Amino acid sequence: MATTLITGGTVVSSTGRGPADILVDGERIVALLYPGTTALGANLAETVDTVIDASGKYVVPGGIDAHTHMSMPFGGTTASDDFETGTRAAAWGGTTMIIDFAVQKFGERVQDSLQTWHKMASGQCAVDYSFHQIVGDVNDESLAALRRLPDEGITSYKLFMAYPGVFYSDDAQILRAMQIGANTGLLTMMHAENGPAIDVLVAQLLAEGKTDPYYHGIARAWQLEEEATHRAIMLADLTGAPLYVVHVSAKQAVAQLAAARDRGRNVFGETCPQYLYLSLEDNLGAAGFEGAKWVCSTPLRSRQEEHQDQVWQALRTNDLQMVSTDHCPFCMKGQKDMGIGDFSKIPNGIGTIEHRMDLMYQGVVDGRITLERWVEITSTTPARMFGLYGRKGVLAPGADADIVVYDPNGHTSIGLGKTHHMNMDHSAWEGYEIDGHVDTVLSRGKVVVADGEYRGRKGDGQFVRRDPCQYLI
Ligand SMILES: [Zn+2]
Repeated sequence: MATTLITGGTVVSSTGRGPADILVDGERIVALLYPGTTALGANLAETVDTVIDASGKYVVPGGIDAHTHMSMPFGGTTASDDFETGTRAAAWGGTTMIIDFAVQKFGERVQDSLQTWHKMASGQCAVDYSFHQIVGDVNDESLAALRRLPDEGITSYKLFMAYPGVFYSDDAQILRAMQIGANTGLLTMMHAENGPAIDVLVAQLLAEGKTDPYYHGIARAWQLEEEATHRAIMLADLTGAPLYVVHVSAKQAVAQLAAARDRGRNVFGETCPQYLYLSLEDNLGAAGFEGAKWVCSTPLRSRQEEHQDQVWQALRTNDLQMVSTDHCPFCMKGQKDMGIGDFSKIPNGIGTIEHRMDLMYQGVVDGRITLERWVEITSTTPARMFGLYGRKGVLAPGADADIVVYDPNGHTSIGLGKTHHMNMDHSAWEGYEIDGHVDTVLSRGKVVVADGEYRGRKGDGQFVRRDPCQYLI
């Protein structure tokens, strides 16, 4: 097996940083060599196959993006990144594992949908991958299938309180599913927005001629995120099911999560870069149809109400535990433009998978989070939350050699035709400048990105079976 030594860098974990060399043998890390360590021989650099000089750079565990939607069917079209293009873009951005969503639609069998997603991803991925199971039709049969998911290495499933007629579950369905979540070790993930109320507001706005992308954000009011978050927490409380709320954007929803956590409950939340940087006014409210680029759900929130600062604060205080992307890109031409004249027909989703590590590192530069917290919210906690820790999310002997060498003196200009490899005809992040750069990326010991080149190939990434959540009280 090929051996690699990463020398001279500062190894950063969720708990600290310091100088260390990392020895990789095949797909695994076999040793961390601290200054003064000579047990493995002073001339190690001369005996390994490859030496990577990380002097002046950070060496961190590869990013884990626990919320992506490759080839996701939505609103009559399909997300424009498939498993090949999306995971390659992930590798470019320092993300070495994704957890995508297998989608059971109304009338389908859970096990069939999981097999469909396995077929779509198998042999296509640049980095390792797993699935959460979306249950869009909660009934006796799908609940029985839910119980068997851990045998397939799938330890989390997702329900929607939004999208009536598509993915929506009512409170009775949520209660029944959570009862299974409480005694099988499955983590319940929730899209917490009051869908039926949103649909009333959408119809009223359209009837008033308010058809621009901006009104997507008005219809999906924060009250409806707060209400659904509260309801999900109460149903979880009643059943004893651990709960993970996806793409939290409203400060009031954050407060609901914080209150539940203060009561000692196993309630967790993720946010996404778009809710930290972008806003209703600046982006959804852009001139003409431009705002369609930023139509996603939950929606971007008002900057005047200071949701963004509150979500950053929650990341510092661990009221929110991690950052995923909800990567679900659609092109403007032929996809987003289906909603010209009717914002409700704009496919919901933003492409961010390539930029998550950079955008969150900018939070370190800006003094919003520590370097260690950056590692924690992008890699270590996702690994613990979704049953991967030890193998992923940490640089330690025995762990997969998913390693990113990050250059704090580098620079990344985000935009179309610059560093962007996602399959989109625009970037939601055009013009963002990052004071850092993904230098070298190893995926299970193989250098997949170096010297500004992609050196991997599709099929490098493998399906990873997951253990139950390792974050529970
Ligand atoms: Zn999503």
